[in-house]
Amino acid sequence: MEWVCTSCGFTRGLFEEYYWKCPRCGKPLSIRYSVRGEILSSRNTWERYRGFIPFMPEKTRGEGLTPIVAEKYSPHTLLFKLEYMNPGGSFKDRGSALAVYYGYKMGFEKTVVDTSGNTGISVALYSKLYGLESMIIMPRTAPLGKRKAVSRIGGKVVEAEDRLAASSIVEKYISDGDVYYVAHLWNPLYIIGHATMVYEVYEEYGVPDYVFAPVGSGGLILALAYGFEKLLEQGLTKKLPRLIGVQGYSCQPVYEVLHGKRIEGEDSSLADGIMVYNPPRVKEIAEKIDRSHGEVVLVGNSEIQSSLEELWQNGFLVEPTSATVYAAYKKIKNEIPGDATILLVLTGSGLKTL
Ligand SMILES: [Zn+2]
Repeated sequence: MEWVCTSCGFTRGLFEEYYWKCPRCGKPLSIRYSVRGEILSSRNTWERYRGFIPFMPEKTRGEGLTPIVAEKYSPHTLLFKLEYMNPGGSFKDRGSALAVYYGYKMGFEKTVVDTSGNTGISVALYSKLYGLESMIIMPRTAPLGKRKAVSRIGGKVVEAEDRLAASSIVEKYISDGDVYYVAHLWNPLYIIGHATMVYEVYEEYGVPDYVFAPVGSGGLILALAYGFEKLLEQGLTKKLPRLIGVQGYSCQPVYEVLHGKRIEGEDSSLADGIMVYNPPRVKEIAEKIDRSHGEVVLVGNSEIQSSLEELWQNGFLVEPTSATVYAAYKKIKNEIPGDATILLVLTGSGLKTL
C-alpha cells in the first residue's frame, strides 16, 4: 500500500507518513494497493467489499449497504440509491469511515476539515468514535441544521466568512502541528470509500447505462468512475456507464473545463453542497465524464425546487443538492433510450436542512 503521485511519480508507504497532497509537486495523490474482485457475504460493507479497499476500519455505524428503490418514470425505470440513509445522513460517511480511521491509525489526536456541511457531520461522527477531537470549519452560509448536528455529535464548529477564510483557518490549525487535515477534496480514501456504493449497485442491478450524480468537489463522480473501472479490471463487467455530472449555473467549473465556456442561467445557490468553485481534481473529473461519453448538466433554483418538492412527495426526503440529479434527469430524459437503466444517487438527507 503506497501513496502515488501520477503527475510526478512520487511514492511513499501509506502508513509511513500522511500527505494531503503530493509533497513534491502539490497535485492530488492516489493510493496503490492490490484489488481482489471477490465479494463476501457480510452485512458490514467493509467486510463485504474487503477485496476492493486497502484496509478495514475497526469501527462502523452501519455505513453503506443503502437501499436502491426502483421507480417507473415513463418510459424509464429509475434506480434511486438512497445514500441519505447513511449514519450521518450522507454518502460522505463511506469516505470518512476510512479516512478518519486512517488518521487515528497514524496517531493523530485531532482532525480538521473545511466543508459546507455533510462532510463536517461525518468527520465529527467518526472522529468521536475513535476518540479524536474534531474542528469543523464551516461557512456562515452552511445550513443551521448541519451546524447543529456537528455540535450535537461533539465536533467543534468554527465559523468562516467564506471559503478563502476557511482555508486560512485550516492552515493555522495545520501549522500548529499534530492535526490531521482530512482534506476530503484531495484525500483518495474518500474516492475509495465512496466507490463501495458501486459494488452494491452492481450486486443488485449490474452496471447501469446512465449514472446521475451531483458534482461539487467531484469526489462522488470520481468514486463512481473508480468503482466501475475496478469492476471492469476484475472482469466482473464488460461495460461502463455514462456518467452524468450535475452542476448549478452559479458554479460550473467542470462544465467550463469540459466545454471551454460557461452557460449563463438562473441562480443555483439552493444546492449549497455543489458550490465548490475550485475542485482540485477538476481536470480529472472532466476527463472521466468525457471518457464515459457522459455530460455535465446544469440546473437552476426553480428546477431544483420543483424537483425537491416532487421527491419529498414521493417519499424521498433529500436535501436540495440531491434533488439536482432528478432535475437533470428530467432535463435530458428525451435523449435517453427507453430501455436504459438509470441510476440516480440521492446523496444527502433533507432532514438537516428544514
Ligand atoms: Zn507529485
